[in-house]
Amino acid sequence: MLCYLNGSLTDKDQTNIRIENRGFTFADGLFEVIRIIDGVPLFLESHYNRMKESAIFFRIPFSYNLQECYRQSVELIEKNGLYDGELYWELTRGDDAFREHGFREEHQGTFIILTIPLRHINPDNWEKGVSLTLYPDLRHQLCEHKTINLLANCMAKNFAYSQGAYDSMMFRQEKDGRKYITEGGSSTYFLVKDDVIATPEIDNILPGITRKKVISLCKDLQIPLIQRRVYVNEIKHAQEIFLASTVSKVMPVKKIGDLVYPVDGKITRTLMNAFAQLIETQISEVNQMIKEGM
Ligand code: PLP
Repeated sequence: MLCYLNGSLTDKDQTNIRIENRGFTFADGLFEVIRIIDGVPLFLESHYNRMKESAIFFRIPFSYNLQECYRQSVELIEKNGLYDGELYWELTRGDDAFREHGFREEHQGTFIILTIPLRHINPDNWEKGVSLTLYPDLRHQLCEHKTINLLANCMAKNFAYSQGAYDSMMFRQEKDGRKYITEGGSSTYFLVKDDVIATPEIDNILPGITRKKVISLCKDLQIPLIQRRVYVNEIKHAQEIFLASTVSKVMPVKKIGDLVYPVDGKITRTLMNAFAQLIETQISEVNQMIKEGM
């Protein structure tokens, strides 16, 4: 299996990534997960832009432009023959033999691209819906960036798995004790009430690529949507709830604790279909681009 490491195609098991890499020692890095369907990396430009903006924010050297990332990703997919799966990008601040916290100008970024086989998700999840748990959001103040510091997300998801659920809805607490839900351990959520969708605004949560696509589909389809803080007590009265992420796409929720939701909700189904259509369009557009030499 091959990977791309700092612009060169390399055997994945023979890389010279050093243990002193700041990705290991400080979780000083960023990542992206890009869905591959029919050999096509979906919405790659949006993923690239998100990584680039965060790299600028954190001053992590990222010297590849969009075309180079496209070319390397497509070549890797072809070489590894992975037509249905995930692309994993990771960018760290590179090696630091002294493990010194401060950033130094001589740091060279480390950029890797891997192909990862599709993680197993029961196809029933899209038909019958998934269960969720609630879990405190134990993260930091940098959640608008897709950093590789994921321990709190792992705890939230691990708790969900221990309860036989798919993900946890993470919540934070306001000063007056009211709890609001930020996002899933690896997904965004949308709640429907009175035929209006509510989803959290970007307030120390990840600006999800799928979230943005769903919001734009709602605009096209004239489905009313509000971005606002959503409180834990609102889930009792929700008509429908669904998740959105690169891997989950649009996925209905059937249960949170003892609360049960219809999984064939009109709005959820409309958006699942619209998102599937958007993926089809994206596949044809990228294939056309590849044919024309990008
Ligand atoms: N929120 C969190 C915390 C995530 O980790 C993810 C994806 O892994 C998402 C939301 C969904 O984001 P995207 O649609 O970009 O995959």
